[in-house]
Amino acid sequence: MTQPNHTHVAILGSGAAGLTAAIYASRARLEPVVFHGHQPGGQLTITTDVENFPGFEHGIMGPELMQVMTRQAERFGTRMVQAYVSRVELESSPKVLHLDDGSTWTADTVIVGTGASARLLGLESESHLMGYGVSACATCDGFFFTDKKIVVVGGGDSAMEEATFLAKFASEVTIIHRRDSFRASQIMQERALNHPKIKVVWNKEVTEVLGDREAGVTAVRLRDTVTSEVSDFPTEGLFLAIGHVPNTGFLGDTLEKDESGYLVVEPGTTRTRIPGVFAAGDVADKKYRQAITAAGTGCMAALDAEHWLTEHGLTD
Ligand code: NAP
Repeated sequence: MTQPNHTHVAILGSGAAGLTAAIYASRARLEPVVFHGHQPGGQLTITTDVENFPGFEHGIMGPELMQVMTRQAERFGTRMVQAYVSRVELESSPKVLHLDDGSTWTADTVIVGTGASARLLGLESESHLMGYGVSACATCDGFFFTDKKIVVVGGGDSAMEEATFLAKFASEVTIIHRRDSFRASQIMQERALNHPKIKVVWNKEVTEVLGDREAGVTAVRLRDTVTSEVSDFPTEGLFLAIGHVPNTGFLGDTLEKDESGYLVVEPGTTRTRIPGVFAAGDVADKKYRQAITAAGTGCMAALDAEHWLTEHGLTD
């Protein structure tokens, strides 16, 4: 039996990585504790159909997939704790986690699976109008734009997916992209480009969001990336789909990060530079960023943690 507020395996984050780590660690009788924020389930809870997670021939809704994974982890003894980890002491033994509710936990091993959050353009007008016509979550806010003209910024799979989803509500969706070709996969591009309500504006970047909190968004100011010409494009909503940034702020400088802020692990493992600390999922994956790869590295992290505990004689 472990002490109160102590666990063999602390798992930070409850997305595909964290929950898969929890399923493996709890089946290994390690009684893991998953710390999750106010919106458990990670990025899949703000998507709609997940068509590429193996095992679901007809797809599954993202939130449902995460609920099932949570129940699967709990069935084997995983404990879910709702609180953000605000500060960590990872070099001590045991490791110490300070939570935002004022409590403290200790852990023999820590698996960081805190994922990534939507990247923003970084404009003052964008943050001022966030929630007043600007959104980074089509699934959350699409309904509010029924019969409205909106724009989606980005050229990756997310932009295609969000534009196609938003076209169910909006009267017209314009994808604004800073180059003259998309990086999105062929099938996602075709779905968007063949949609009668979706148009594309190439070679333009958004330099300002026009409007106010009363009227909402009225236009976006665009700069042509080839000619530098500036123009205003009337719209009633702006959706951002320009990628993600890893959630590592609470770690301070404790773990090694690459130039984009992703956690660095020893190749072929989930080991970070601190013994007993592992990283899994999007927080350490700049390249693949898929639910299935997050689940895969979550499994690896649980196995790496189990081996580490055995090596150090820390299992019951
Ligand atoms: P992404 O592939 O990194 O694409 C980000 C897009 O935003 C790029 O087109 C990029 O332009 C643009 N961009 C980045 N910063 C910008 C800025 N400051 N201003 C304007 N444009 C900017 O990100 P993602 O689309 O979120 O996809 C991430 C990963 O998830 C990918 O591996 C993707 O395949 C996967 N994904 C899969 C699905 C699916 O299969 N159902 C759905 C969503 C995402 P440039 O092209 O010029 O760099």
